[in-house]
Amino acid sequence: MAAEASAAEIAQGMKTLHVLLRRLDTARERLQEGPRRIALAERQQARAEAQVEEQQQKLKGLKKQSDECNLNLKSKESDILKLEGQLNTATSNEVYSSIKGQIASVRTARGEMEEAGLLALEAIDEAEQQLQDLRKLVQQRSSELQALRDEHARETPLLEAEIADVEQLVLSAAAIVPAAEQQTLMRLRTAHGAGALATVEEDFCTACDTRVIAQDMVRMRTAKFVQCRDCGRILYVDSGAGSES
Ligand SMILES: [Zn+2]
Repeated sequence: MAAEASAAEIAQGMKTLHVLLRRLDTARERLQEGPRRIALAERQQARAEAQVEEQQQKLKGLKKQSDECNLNLKSKESDILKLEGQLNTATSNEVYSSIKGQIASVRTARGEMEEAGLLALEAIDEAEQQLQDLRKLVQQRSSELQALRDEHARETPLLEAEIADVEQLVLSAAAIVPAAEQQTLMRLRTAHGAGALATVEEDFCTACDTRVIAQDMVRMRTAKFVQCRDCGRILYVDSGAGSES
């Protein structure tokens, strides 16, 4: 009976240690999560800024194209005027109709140029709208980044304090592990964090799903320190809330 009570105490102690180690893992993960999220937001902002730059170049190209269209259009206009002037000085019907033909083809070219000019203007409008949207996106990314930095600055001291507190609690809770096995515990904690401990459910190690042999089940019931023979985790039986007393 004395051995049984002590086994229950050990199981309870292991559970307490396990819970504390999980809290420690969670706090440490949250502490690391901040810089990770900030780095991601920084990349997103840089990408949005690059898109703005790219869009500005695109817009520049479109405006150049539009200017060229206008110049071309003006030169076509003056070609037509020139040709129309020549009509009056045509010395023969052949020359006259040849000039007429040239005027017609320049007019066709002018028509095409006008259309190209209109399309270029539409493209410019669209590109300007996109540029505005992208600039808004940069602003949005920038304020998201700032919010993350603020949050991280706010949370870091709280998380660090929590980690320090929990580490103290772990220190005393870890006394449930025999002195001879403290190094094992440290090694397992370094490798697996809270996963240093694993519960046994229906005779199976919950970390690796390997059946715990009967002999080890007996050892646990007699308050012995037991590690999973497959994954090496420190095993304990979580007998639930009713196990206290
Ligand atoms: Zn295991």
